Amino acid sequence: MELPEIVIVGDNTFNKDNLSKLVRKKALLLTGPNVSGIFAEKINSALRGFEYEKEVVNASTYDEAERIYNKFIDKDFEAVIGFGGGKVLDVAKYFGYKTGINVISVPTSASNDGIASPFSSLKGGTHPYSLKVKPPRGVIVDLSVIMKAPKRFILSGLGDLLGKFTSIRDWKLAWIEKNEYYGEYASKLAYESAKHAMISTKGIEVLKYVSVRNLMEALISAGVAGGIAGSSRPLSGSEHLVSHALDIIAPEKGTHGEKVALSTVFIAYLYGINWRKIKSKIQEVGLPSSFSQIGIKREEVIDAVFMAPSLRPERYTILHKLNLTKDAVNNILDEINI
Ligand SMILES: [Zn+2]
Repeated sequence: MELPEIVIVGDNTFNKDNLSKLVRKKALLLTGPNVSGIFAEKINSALRGFEYEKEVVNASTYDEAERIYNKFIDKDFEAVIGFGGGKVLDVAKYFGYKTGINVISVPTSASNDGIASPFSSLKGGTHPYSLKVKPPRGVIVDLSVIMKAPKRFILSGLGDLLGKFTSIRDWKLAWIEKNEYYGEYASKLAYESAKHAMISTKGIEVLKYVSVRNLMEALISAGVAGGIAGSSRPLSGSEHLVSHALDIIAPEKGTHGEKVALSTVFIAYLYGINWRKIKSKIQEVGLPSSFSQIGIKREEVIDAVFMAPSLRPERYTILHKLNLTKDAVNNILDEINI
């Protein structure tokens, strides 16, 4: 098991005192193009007195991650601090993976479960799914920062968590039918994080502080479940494969969590679990309740479901088992009306 060592969640937690628990010498600070300006003062005050270099991450692609790696390869950094959204954290984790130095994750939004997980999702590589890396050594969640993120990103994190209802089903299926390693504890932890998100929807919808904190803690727990399992199995199943296929077929449409949430309704239907309840939570919290709302056409959804198993043929899921025809997919989409 590989887990983060220090996790700090609270108000104004991104500060000098907390950082000095994780860095003593020189650090590389990676941020996004927008957050570096919005939080310039906070960054300056937290890093005052530290020796550091700063770089803006423009995309979560292998090219960008390699550019940054090559630019700073010879610098003797003790740690890399990722201060930003999912893209920045993915690149920071990649930098830590390539150089072996510690990663400090400082999310500025709640958009996905990558905050504490040992996986880096970069586009443009040989495969569309995550790379297994070291988990961040430190996670600092500063709620005064998270609360400033657009609501869509906070809801997106909730959508990503709902996916755990089906990812753990796929994992169990692979254990039963393919004798794959299955960890009951990691699976339960991922399940609880999704359940926790479900009961927080009312508060999240109105951005209640305590509910957003619950959401952040659930996202961290989900990432930790991945660290316990040693694979992304508890976090990512067929609902993520559909979302990854949509990234290819209908790029730049919808956020990761929005696509995962809708795909979860579809996969929940296949498993005969309560897809109506998941769908009603999606509607209740204000996530898009149909693919068309995020600009994805019916044919694109059908193609994505059809393509999904081929993205990871070795990772057995319900889609690999059922081998649905395009007609069957269309009929289900009609029935569940997403
Ligand atoms: Zn995800």
